[in-house]
This record gives sequence, C-alpha cells and structure tokens, in this order.
Amino acid sequence: MPMADECVHESCAVFGIYGHPEAANLTYLGLYALQHRGQESAGIAASDGKRVHSEIGMGRVADIFDEDRLSKLCGHLAIGHNRYSTAGQSRISNAQPFLVDHSRGIIALGHNGNLTNAARLQKELEDGGSIFRSTTDSEVILHLIARSTEEDADLAIADALNRLEGAFTLTMMTSDLLIGVRDPHGFRPLVLGKIDQPNGETAWVLASETCALDLIEADFEREILPGEMVVIDAQGPRSMHPFPVTPPKQCIFEFIYFARPDSHIFGHDVYSVRRELGVQLARENPVEADMVIPVPDSGLAAATGYAAESGLPMEIGLVRNHYVGRTFIEPQNSIRHFGVKVKLNPMPSFLKGRRVVVVDDSIVRGTTSRKIVEMIRHAGATEVHMRISSPPIISPCYFGIDMPTHEELIASSQPVEEIRAHMLADSLEYLSLDGLLKCVAPGKDEYCTSCFTGKYPIPVQFKDSQLSLFREIRTTEHRA
Ligand code: AMP
Repeated sequence: MPMADECVHESCAVFGIYGHPEAANLTYLGLYALQHRGQESAGIAASDGKRVHSEIGMGRVADIFDEDRLSKLCGHLAIGHNRYSTAGQSRISNAQPFLVDHSRGIIALGHNGNLTNAARLQKELEDGGSIFRSTTDSEVILHLIARSTEEDADLAIADALNRLEGAFTLTMMTSDLLIGVRDPHGFRPLVLGKIDQPNGETAWVLASETCALDLIEADFEREILPGEMVVIDAQGPRSMHPFPVTPPKQCIFEFIYFARPDSHIFGHDVYSVRRELGVQLARENPVEADMVIPVPDSGLAAATGYAAESGLPMEIGLVRNHYVGRTFIEPQNSIRHFGVKVKLNPMPSFLKGRRVVVVDDSIVRGTTSRKIVEMIRHAGATEVHMRISSPPIISPCYFGIDMPTHEELIASSQPVEEIRAHMLADSLEYLSLDGLLKCVAPGKDEYCTSCFTGKYPIPVQFKDSQLSLFREIRTTEHRA
C-alpha cells in the first residue's frame, strides 16, 4: 500500500443536491457541466432517506451513466464527483464518491483538492488499524470521520476536518443530510444554488462552479466561504465555521485556466477576468503584427482582450478537434509526437505571409507552444510572437492543479529568453504577477499564487520525486 504522499494529485469536480425528486438525474447533468474538471472517472451516490446507493465508473460522465444505472439511484438526495488524475493511478478503486458504513450510518464523500498532511494521517490511521482501499488522500477524510468520538454526524465531520491540512472542497452526504465544505484557505471553489419547485418546496444545490447551476436551471444563491461548512436538510442550509480563522488563498489558476469561462467563482465572472488578463497582457507587451490568433480553447478569452486592447484583428488561425480522447494519448512513444497536431490544425490561407501574435493562457512544459509555433510557421506566417496571459510557472502545485515537478516546468530552470529560443518564436512575453493581480483586485492578497512565486501558503511535505511518480506526459492530454 503506497503512503499517502505518493497519492495522485487531483483537480476534480464536486456536486450535491438535496430535496429534489430527480436528484440523481440532476447530479448527472451537473457532472456533465463540470466535465472539464476531470475525465478520469465519475460517480454518483443517492439516498431516499434510508438507503444510500452509488454507481461509479471509469471515463466520462456520458459514457458511464445510462438510464439503467441512473434508475438505480433513487431518492431526493445525491452527490456526484468527476475525477482528474494521471494514468499511473487510473483505477476504479480511486473513483469517487467514496462510501463508508460506520456506527453513525453511511457517509459518502467527494473531494476536490489535495491534502498536504495525508501521509502522516494515513500512517497514524493505519497504525490504529484502518485499512485503506484506494491510493487517494481523500479516503483519509472518511477514516477520520469514522474514528471521531462526536455523536452527531455534522460534529464528527467538523472534528475530522480540523485534522486536515491542504486543499479540500468537499460534498458529503449521509442518508438524510447534504454537506458542503471549503477548507479554511478556500483553494478550490464551491457554490450554493437553489431550485424553487412547482410544489412550493426548495431543492438546494452545491457545485464546484456556477456553470453546473446554469445547466439544471438552479438560481445562484452565493459562494460557500473559505472555512465554511454548510449542512443542508429539510429545514434548508445551516452554516458552521469549524476552523480557526485563516487568511483566504483561493487558487488564481482557476481564473487563468481551470474553471469554465461561463462560471462565476471567487466573486468574479471567469470570462471577464480572463479577458482582462489579455487586455493587461497587451498593455504590458505590445507588438507590431497583423493579427491575433488564440490557442483554442485555453487562449480564447485572453486573445479577445489582447485584440481589443491592441486594436489588432483576431482571427481563428488554429482549429481545434474537440473529439480527441484519452484513447489516442495512451503512453506509447511511437504516437506521442502527434499529440498537439491531432488536436490543433493551422489555417494556411489566413496565416501565409502574416505576422501573428499567438495568445495562450500558460506554458507548463513548453512542448505545446513549441509545436504551435512550428505549425504556424510551417503554415506560412512570417513572424510568430507568443504572448502568455499568466506569469512563468516556476513551482509545482500541491493544492490540486496538475502541474509537474520543478524539473519538468520549463520556466523553473530557464529564463524567458531561453524558452523563446527553445520554441523558436520571434518573441515571447508573459503577463507580470502585478498585472495578473490587478485583474482580480480588490482582494489580491486572497489568492494562492505559489505556482508563480514558489511561496506556499502552508508548508508542503511533497518531494519532486514523489510527484513525478504519477506523471504522464500531459502535453497531449489537456482537457478536451
Ligand atoms: P505545455 O505544453 O506543458 O507547456 O502545456 C501548455 C498548455 O497546457 C497550455 O495550452 C495550457 O492551456 C494547458 N495547461 C495549463 N495547465 C494545465 C493543467 N494543469 N492541465 C492540463 N493542461 C494545462
């Protein structure tokens, strides 16, 4: 059994609904809207007030659930989870929601984030006789809840959560309670919505992002606050604040890349922030060129802002194939080099003889940008200027975003000029950290920017060698 610090790093989606006769069907739709946060596995647990049943599977939501499986998920209460992880740990035992049956009844849990003290907690629990069935740190949470001496489920959960360090946005359920939690720093988002039903009753919804509320036509109520635990039953939501007061450190990379542009999180519309990053990028790094080309889809919003600010026309110079699945990108070296090509195709008639500014949101390993520059040049562009709507990523994320080790992060060891030379671009410029923070003001101190600064808001125990255990070459695997 691997130690918890060998656990995979997860950026996932969570969802929950209380008080709706079609709880599982709406959870299915919610997970569908949140598919971008994880495509490795998905699961739904549902309760009719007495019995909790769960269905989980590998792959995407639409491939896992059919009418037959959904019909087994009866009741007014459900939670769901989409999981993102790396190929090495692709296994059904890691799929969530996790269920545990203990003296207080069944508890189901879905986790988004990454615990930084999981190894220590798992060792302690195993020494005390707990048996782990997965290799994810999320299971630690259930064991801690089961061990709590508190009588009531909500108090036992609050008690257990106080042992955790790191990032955890959770949806949990017992047979008759829905619970949502954001860790004290609030690294990952969680929103609350409601559906007023024709019979006058209200259903309550928890979701990683508001785009899930939109799909099921739930009204956005508010965000769950960092450090808040919401317990929902027939009386509606009740707030608890079980953690010591801690400064918020919400993940700024949610704005740059991870969240969907049509979501509203951390008090902002994601698209507005992302577009503003492009505006700021153009102010900081103008260039004489004929057109702006977005890298679809990750660079679209920032390119729109860059074009508006620079006055250059924006053109679709790269077309994306949205149907690239994981099957193609299984780690066989012989086909790997097709990765970017199979996903993006340039339009020579637009690019030939032109000086282009290519806008993308971030550079991780540098392989994608290098291939893109090569493709665009090959299509006839005379100059290729890369503009990146975030600062250089110099340090791995330990709080739930899949970012590789220092060794693999190109900006961790190479200055911008070397990266430019590596990708054979005519120029390469990144957005400054100050520029980035301007776009999320006020509250710029409320964000975790550790991937750009190497300064972590909480001490981290991971070593690069452990992180790299579970890496695959991600270049070809960016979310579809
Ligand atoms: P790379 O080739 O590793 O430099 O990848 C850069 C591309 O990866 C950019 O187009 C980003 O939009 C995308 N990207 C950034 N962060 C992640 C992440 N955590 N997971 C997957 N793709 C990412």
